[in-house]
Amino acid sequence: MGIKYRRVLLKLSGEALMGELGYGIDPSVVQEIATEVAEVVGEGVQMAIVVGGGNIFRGIKASAAGMDRATADYIGMIATVMNAMTLQDALERMGIPTRVQTAIAMQEVAEPYIRRRAIRHLEKGRVVIFGAGSGNPFFTTDTTAALRAAEIDAEVIFKATKVDGIYDSDPHQNPTARRFQSLTYSHVLTHDLRVMDSTAIALCKENNIPIMVFDLTVRGNIHRAVKGEPVGTIVGG
Ligand code: UDP
Repeated sequence: MGIKYRRVLLKLSGEALMGELGYGIDPSVVQEIATEVAEVVGEGVQMAIVVGGGNIFRGIKASAAGMDRATADYIGMIATVMNAMTLQDALERMGIPTRVQTAIAMQEVAEPYIRRRAIRHLEKGRVVIFGAGSGNPFFTTDTTAALRAAEIDAEVIFKATKVDGIYDSDPHQNPTARRFQSLTYSHVLTHDLRVMDSTAIALCKENNIPIMVFDLTVRGNIHRAVKGEPVGTIVGG
């Protein structure tokens, strides 16, 4: 089976980089993710990555504890930049050229987000890692993933998680939970299936960007996903 998707937006949650640790970054997990990304980039797939920050700081949680929400969200966005730079380092040690672009200017450590420049990097085979979310408080990195995917004309969003797709109930709590092979955006929205937040789903729906939800911890899944193999659940029109 050949490559199905030539330009992909990979959404990695902060927790994906945390592995089994309760907080922060597990270098061996980052290494594994980078290995998988390097593999598909080596086959000519253009890969952009939006990384979350929940392994370090989550705005909504801090605001529930009393912090001003917008301030907390800005801290959350800055946390994602640490993850972005960590991924950059891991990929570059494997010989994969990368650029980090941030939605909040930090020009000493990364480029500012410039859409046309991001596309140019992708065309040259560089992995573009988007840090600092959308640059706006009250949003999430899932919504950022949908936004950037639309902006760069990605053919698909890979939402890499710790479960192998979307279920009708929580598979960790209900042994008879059923996994969906495919779902429509409307089904996800009306049944409030928590794949990505509703703003992200709505943006994908409006722009017709399919979302593939699959288990990142299974070796080779990113590779299977770019070939269009049914590794998880696909959300589409
Ligand atoms: N965030 C934000 N605006 C954005 C993206 C992220 O304010 O456009 C903040 C928000 O506080 C969020 C934190 O950054 O809690 C980390 O992002 P997220 O929770 O989406 O990370 P993930 O769940 O993917 O690890």
